[in-house]
Amino acid sequence: MLIELLTDDELAFLTSVRHDLHAHPELGFEEDRTSSIVARLLTEAGVSVHRGLAKTGIVGTLKCGSGEGTIALRADMDALAMPETADRPYKSTVEGKMHACGHDGHTTMLLGAARHLARSRDFSGTVHFIFQPAEEGRGGARQMVEEGLFDLFPCDAVFGLHNMPGLGTDEMAVVAGPQLASSDSWKVTIRGVGTHGAKPHLGRDAVTASGHFLSSLQTIVGRLIDPLQPAVVSACSLQAGDPEALNVIPDFVEIGGTARAYSPDVRDRLETEIGRLAQGIAQTFGMEADYRYIRRIPPVINDPDAAADALAVARSVCAGNVRTDFAPSTAGDDFAFLNEDIPGAFVWLGNGPAVDGALHHNTAYDFNDEAIATGVSFWVHLVEQRLAASGTQE
Ligand SMILES: [Zn+2]
Ligand SMILES: [Zn+2]
Repeated sequence: MLIELLTDDELAFLTSVRHDLHAHPELGFEEDRTSSIVARLLTEAGVSVHRGLAKTGIVGTLKCGSGEGTIALRADMDALAMPETADRPYKSTVEGKMHACGHDGHTTMLLGAARHLARSRDFSGTVHFIFQPAEEGRGGARQMVEEGLFDLFPCDAVFGLHNMPGLGTDEMAVVAGPQLASSDSWKVTIRGVGTHGAKPHLGRDAVTASGHFLSSLQTIVGRLIDPLQPAVVSACSLQAGDPEALNVIPDFVEIGGTARAYSPDVRDRLETEIGRLAQGIAQTFGMEADYRYIRRIPPVINDPDAAADALAVARSVCAGNVRTDFAPSTAGDDFAFLNEDIPGAFVWLGNGPAVDGALHHNTAYDFNDEAIATGVSFWVHLVEQRLAASGTQE
């Protein structure tokens, strides 16, 4: 079922597209060449194209039959600001940029699915193909939503896919519930009163207060969060005083870090408790703390029904070779902004064994072309299943 979907010629064509994208990586919101190729191939296939959402973002729309169901499929297009060290015929031609997360493969597979569905038209309803810019920390998904993605292109469900080394290229993982953690930042400034290092009683020592804050920080995860709920709080930056002025107690200490969670409740609790601890400790020592919690990416949480649909399709495409006990990742993906208000599922597609140990964001990483057929087949069958042409679907 899997391999017959694409002809040898089409698979060769898609592989050449993937290699071309790999050789010409572009960073977030700069995907001008990539999005031009996407737009051209969609247009040539007969898919209507909307350009310019979140600068370089594209939505292709394909309508078929009289079905009212709507589904959105998302691929990310951006590369990373890092050098490619492995030699390959289609190695990055741009210094300091490379496709180290496999988004070249994601873009290719969604293009392959659009081309196939535009030919076969074996569904009844509307498909939106979302080609998103700037997944790697630059806020592409959020900007697409803020610029009206789902007002312009409403949909009943949205699906995303990411390649995953360690799973076979004919293997997928589909799990309901949390897939990726929320990824937020926090900043605390403890404000004391600077003074002579020899006369601490004449000031308020923010350095000592910050030591108490840091040594108590892990009590948030250890004592306040449900032990059965994963959570991470890390202080990653600490700035105070001047190493050239070792007789000066500084006015303030700035501390910053990250917080991760898999549920909105735990995320809210982390936001509250980090601030409460900072302000409480500052108060204990007679000073004040400024606190800022910066919400960056919500957790990716798969809707049970959407995940069940995706699982059924993955099982048929991969001849049963699908994992349902796959551990979530503490990384984040801004697909979270797409399925925050719309039911959706984010699934993993095998990328084969990690070659020479290279994982995502490694300078030798590469998307595996063997996975193209599986990914295209998954997208096509998901559309045909959700928007069944028989008329049995709503
Ligand atoms: Zn990445
Ligand atoms: Zn990625």
